[in-house]
Amino acid sequence: MTRQTFLKLAVAGIPVAGARAQQAAPKPNPDLGFTDTPMLPDLPWHVHDPARPHPQQIRPSGTPGGPPSDAVVLFDGGDLSRWNQRGRGADAGKFVDARWKVGDGWFEVAPNTGDLLSREKFGDCQIHVEWSSPTEIHANSQGRGNSGVLIMSRYEMQVLDAWDNPTYADGEASAIYGQWPPLVMPARRPGEWNTYDIAFEAPRFDGEKLVRPAFVTLFYNGVIVHNRKEILGAMVYRKVATYTAHGAEEPLMLQDHHNPVRYRNIWVRRMNGYDRPEA
Ligand code: MG
Repeated sequence: MTRQTFLKLAVAGIPVAGARAQQAAPKPNPDLGFTDTPMLPDLPWHVHDPARPHPQQIRPSGTPGGPPSDAVVLFDGGDLSRWNQRGRGADAGKFVDARWKVGDGWFEVAPNTGDLLSREKFGDCQIHVEWSSPTEIHANSQGRGNSGVLIMSRYEMQVLDAWDNPTYADGEASAIYGQWPPLVMPARRPGEWNTYDIAFEAPRFDGEKLVRPAFVTLFYNGVIVHNRKEILGAMVYRKVATYTAHGAEEPLMLQDHHNPVRYRNIWVRRMNGYDRPEA
């Protein structure tokens, strides 16, 4: 019996076998919970159950927007070694090393060279991305500062210059592209840094059949713009989105939509369910 198991039984007032059981069982410690309380509905736990698993301890960042200790850091200002690029031209159909431009703490879409995909794959997750649209303006609507954060390489949270740039509502910055406009538009000016903080629940498939759609929550510059919104399907232009079955984890993708949008400080945390067994 581990010390942890012993303590759990002891705090619950359950007699423990072995040498320690010869001693008087310690009284239940109300600081650590109760077993004389009602059961929670459809759960194996009492209210305040002392045996309920405790969450894993992680370290938050000391910097606002910085990665917590359990995050997978995809870009911290260094290089693009954690990314692949979808090849174009002679490399069409292949993945190549990332060729986007890396600057001082940021990187930038190299227009018309191909999308960037994380080498690591993710399903249910929390994502932090910072982006900034170009200050040189050459076009309007979907041609100005267009990129995108495509979760699982499919579900696009639109990136666009949203400053005095009229376009269709479900194509504005932070829209679930082609599906839902943001609830409000907290855009910053071109050249200023924007943040997306995303909580994403991956769709579930049984073979080819969709059994649960994806849901997304998005904070844009700290403002909630999607609140556990159901996603209709993979990003598509001028059509109604639909689902096609895919893996439980897929790469995070940043879109090359021909505009030199900048990115920095990108990290992802896998999001697991409640009551995970303690390590
Ligand atoms: Mg886009």
